Amino acid sequence: MEYYSLNQYLRDTFGEKVYKIALDGGFTCPNRDGKIGVGGCIFCAGDGSGAFAGSRALSVTEQIENGKALVEKKMGKATGKPRKYIAYFQNFTGTYAPVERLRELYEKALAPDEIVALSIATRPDCISEEILDLLTELNQRKPVWIELGLQTIHKDTAEYIRRGYDLPVYESAVKQLKDRNITVITHMILGLPGETKEMMVETARYIGEAGSDGIKLQLLHVLKGTDLALDYEKGLFEVLPMEEYVQIVVECLAVLPERMVIHRLTGDGDKKQLLAPLWSADKKRVLNRLTKEIREYTR
Ligand code: SF4
Repeated sequence: MEYYSLNQYLRDTFGEKVYKIALDGGFTCPNRDGKIGVGGCIFCAGDGSGAFAGSRALSVTEQIENGKALVEKKMGKATGKPRKYIAYFQNFTGTYAPVERLRELYEKALAPDEIVALSIATRPDCISEEILDLLTELNQRKPVWIELGLQTIHKDTAEYIRRGYDLPVYESAVKQLKDRNITVITHMILGLPGETKEMMVETARYIGEAGSDGIKLQLLHVLKGTDLALDYEKGLFEVLPMEEYVQIVVECLAVLPERMVIHRLTGDGDKKQLLAPLWSADKKRVLNRLTKEIREYTR
């Protein structure tokens, strides 16, 4: 089976490899500051799911410079023309601030020539009309991507993970963003407690049909210090073994539209915080296994 990877999409769109720079915009989250809840989603570590974001003590411009330096260090100095980057507000809720503040942050992130797109991770219940107007305006200049943390379509699981909004809220956000031509990427988690393979495949199919342009498939990571870790340590659920995960990913890909961009096939977190499943820390091995299984699968 073939799938449309993010790398391929970036090459098709920008003509070359593009690197992401994860930024910390100093946001919080309504699921943590008391507006909706205080404990956050059950799996969320205190960093707001932004293990690799820049330091919030620095300005956006400084974080971009640091991010570029890290890429140069890893990849070697660019020869010829400068590299291209995506500015990515990764942690907490990247649209949860007054619109003037958002404008300031987004404008700074988009300003450098080498930044070719802006990606913002957020919640579907945090996108007001005036924020939509701002995103629409910026999207005329450079592509704007909005990443929505849906995780599951199943009500009981959504309640257990304390997501804090219902499915129609997601549907409406996708519709409003797509009406404005803004790219939508949806996060889903595989291996949530109580979910069967069929339930996960159902979520994937739904995301494809809802009109999302891209998807991030993430393995459930049990991180130290989270409420999820407490339930795990009490033996209330088990994490997915690698082989089962691989099978579920393949079946999810099979129900997605062929042109849907696959941004991620597994989780990517801070290994020091990881409690389970420990096999996921060997990302190279997991990706090799996934690639092989996907290649061999026939729709
Ligand atoms: S919405 Fe995001 S930042 Fe907020 S608690 Fe949930 S995972 Fe964490």
